[in-house]
Amino acid sequence: MNKILDILFPKKCLGCNRANTYFCPFCFNEIEIYKNNYCFLCGKPTNQANICCNNLINKIIVAVEYKDPIIRKIIKNFKYKYIKELKIPLSKFLIASLENIEKPIDYIIIPIPLHKKRQRQRGFNQSELLAQEISKHFNIPIYNVLKRNINTQAQANIKDTEKRKENIKDAFEIQNKELIKNKNIILIDDVATTGATLLEASKILKQNQANKIYGLVVAKG
Ligand SMILES: [Zn+2]
Repeated sequence: MNKILDILFPKKCLGCNRANTYFCPFCFNEIEIYKNNYCFLCGKPTNQANICCNNLINKIIVAVEYKDPIIRKIIKNFKYKYIKELKIPLSKFLIASLENIEKPIDYIIIPIPLHKKRQRQRGFNQSELLAQEISKHFNIPIYNVLKRNINTQAQANIKDTEKRKENIKDAFEIQNKELIKNKNIILIDDVATTGATLLEASKILKQNQANKIYGLVVAKG
């Protein structure tokens, strides 16, 4: 099936149109890993691994610059055109940015879940695909313990920060609370805009005695 699709829609680099790949090594190497010297939430300069302006999440780590048109194109093709193999370069960005902050040895990974209805429509959870690559690379486990209760309106369609918070409020539930007690956690999502989704997930994890929590996203959208 893939072969037939390759003939009908030949792969081309999303950056430079080079054949047989969606993202060639030349374009890949052009991308700069984001430094994370500023707090995601308030924009103040921060010591790399530290909490800045809230006690819900220890740090939100952004991998690359969303303003880069290639990055935007890759994320769109991954999420909305379902080109799953783009998980490879995207997770490499996530891995590099995380390693800049801390090598995650004693951590578990939790992907931000989709509501089951939305996951059925899409066929996969893009955050989970990224989480699998990171889990393999660092040899740390994925715990799929977060569940999305409410089929919220897509955050991307909401402009206002307060409304985003309201939209995502109490959207998550933890399925096995014992599993996350005293754990260091890396929450994975594709794009964060205001951080409301990560904060909401982090809030319920901390309420259930999770220890340190990093949010890790490809870009700030
Ligand atoms: Zn290219």
